[in-house]
Amino acid sequence: MNIGDLDFEQLMQPLKELGKCCLCPHNCGVNRFSDKLGFCKSRADFNISSVCIHRGEEPPISGSKGICNVFFTNCNMQCVYCQNYQISENRSERSMESRSLNMVLTEIIEILEQGINILGFVSPGHFIPQMKVIITALHELDYHPTIVYNSNGFDKVGELKKMEGIVDVFLPDMKYAHESLGQKFSGVKNYPQISQAAIREMYRQKGSILHLNEEGYAWRGLIIRHLVLPGQGQNSKDVLRWIAEELSPNISISLMSQYYPTARVCNEFDLGRTLKAKEYNDVVDCFYELGLHKGWVQSMESQDNYRPDFDNEVHPFE
Ligand code: SF4
Repeated sequence: MNIGDLDFEQLMQPLKELGKCCLCPHNCGVNRFSDKLGFCKSRADFNISSVCIHRGEEPPISGSKGICNVFFTNCNMQCVYCQNYQISENRSERSMESRSLNMVLTEIIEILEQGINILGFVSPGHFIPQMKVIITALHELDYHPTIVYNSNGFDKVGELKKMEGIVDVFLPDMKYAHESLGQKFSGVKNYPQISQAAIREMYRQKGSILHLNEEGYAWRGLIIRHLVLPGQGQNSKDVLRWIAEELSPNISISLMSQYYPTARVCNEFDLGRTLKAKEYNDVVDCFYELGLHKGWVQSMESQDNYRPDFDNEVHPFE
């Protein structure tokens, strides 16, 4: 079957949910086919800023060839320090960029045809129906890549349950254990409770074993990401403690030191500097003290290496 043979009307059925959008914990209830938009300021289109090969993820996600990542625009969180703010800010020029389904599928297939059989959806929590449409269309076209759900952790348990059997690898952030930080830095309430419930559901679905294929790519599992923020070491330790004590010390964790202050945060918050080696190393020590033993820690040089620039062409993370 070719893209032109797909029944687009039938494929688009999941988008009906956007007529009264309660996809994420904001529960806005707005009609995204109208001009009245919710917290994420997203419509019912395929608002995608880029489809590209990304080699800067954790080794089992990027593998040797990279992952095909689909970057949705906007976000259901608005973190003041977001490294991807050019696409995630709900007011930015790029936040309304939209592609036809035909175009999105063509771009993805071009990458899959290069031998990359893993497809990541980045910040998909406010575009879950679009994500499902893309996956269904790919299956109809006989492409069955490993599906990675790369979210900020601000997800609804009910939506995650509906993804059972659709998503192969969950790659959520766990940003805060302290309620005040979610409000101050990301503009959302109840982040700790919401992300804990979401990640508990991901763990229920996938357990703690990360299954890898012969090429070293994950094909099933859960990896939790945590970015250590300057001056917030205790928050990081409390996040790790919750994972070790409430879920399992066997979970794979990506403990990131790559924080870099963007132009937006320098004057406004106490986040206007990179992480000190001692701050990060204290958190790494805590990681081991808690019995956590799977995952990745970064070198401090990652502050220079991991800064994305979405104004670059083609492969923004390379
Ligand atoms: S996805 Fe957007 S519109 Fe829907 S509930 Fe969340 S923030 Fe509101």
